[in-house]
Amino acid sequence: RIVYVNGEYLPEEEATVSIFDRAFLMADGVYEVTSVLGGKIIDFDGHIARLERSLNELDMQKPEAFDDLLSIHRELVAKNAIDEGMIYLQVTRGSAGDRDFAFPDPEVVKPTLVLFTQSKPGLADNPAAKTGIKVISIDDIRWGRRDIKTTQLLYPSMGKMMAKRAGADDAWMVEDGKVTEGTSNNAYIVKDGKIITRELSTDILHGITRAAVLRFAKEAQMKVEERSFTIDEAKQADEAFVTSASTFVMPVVELDGAPIGSGSVGPVASRLREIYLEESRKVGI
Ligand code: PLP
Repeated sequence: RIVYVNGEYLPEEEATVSIFDRAFLMADGVYEVTSVLGGKIIDFDGHIARLERSLNELDMQKPEAFDDLLSIHRELVAKNAIDEGMIYLQVTRGSAGDRDFAFPDPEVVKPTLVLFTQSKPGLADNPAAKTGIKVISIDDIRWGRRDIKTTQLLYPSMGKMMAKRAGADDAWMVEDGKVTEGTSNNAYIVKDGKIITRELSTDILHGITRAAVLRFAKEAQMKVEERSFTIDEAKQADEAFVTSASTFVMPVVELDGAPIGSGSVGPVASRLREIYLEESRKVGI
């Protein structure tokens, strides 16, 4: 695999980042995951706009190659012959050579930019989308700026492991009695034909797939309500699903061991997945 590090395309074995890089020492980095369908990059502008916002919120400089990101994405897709899969991008505050809590002088220390691809043939035809996934609920103990897409992913990883150990696929996090989001996706329920998902705030990541799915739902005359919901409400829902760049729209059929609705993939989730894949393929670049 060919990867990109600070201006260079290299075989992955030759790519290196300093051990003093603040992302390694302090998770002082932000990232984006963008999907590739039919060799086309999906929602590129949305991901780059969110990246810029994450950088601004953390007072992090834009990498020098910021304006070339589209060509870097395309180059990696071509070099690695990606048909379906993902492009991972990370910007870190870089390395000052010593460990220090204070941010290094941006005049001296430049951000690190890393990109690599992951080939996932069959991503659109994912069999899990036909059966749906199982989730458990866990406490949301993450920090208060979940709207910034940082590389502090230890608790979401632990959540995923708690789910696996419980025989489930993923976890929904709960704060003050309300579902915030999944470990790596936004969470939705459907009740009486209405799609309900938590409103945007600093409590959740502003999913790029979420924005697209809500837009498509409204265009298809589906009802959308942006508000938080409880686990009990989710258990009484007709359907549930999650969205992310790597899973698109993924139905959820079980919550804390109990079936949601019929316990199988519902019509709203499957229709939204279809619409999302169809529309996204049209606008991929
Ligand atoms: N919420 C969290 C915590 C995430 O990590 C992600 C994606 O990684 C999402 C939501 C979904 O965001 P997107 O649709 O932009 O992939």
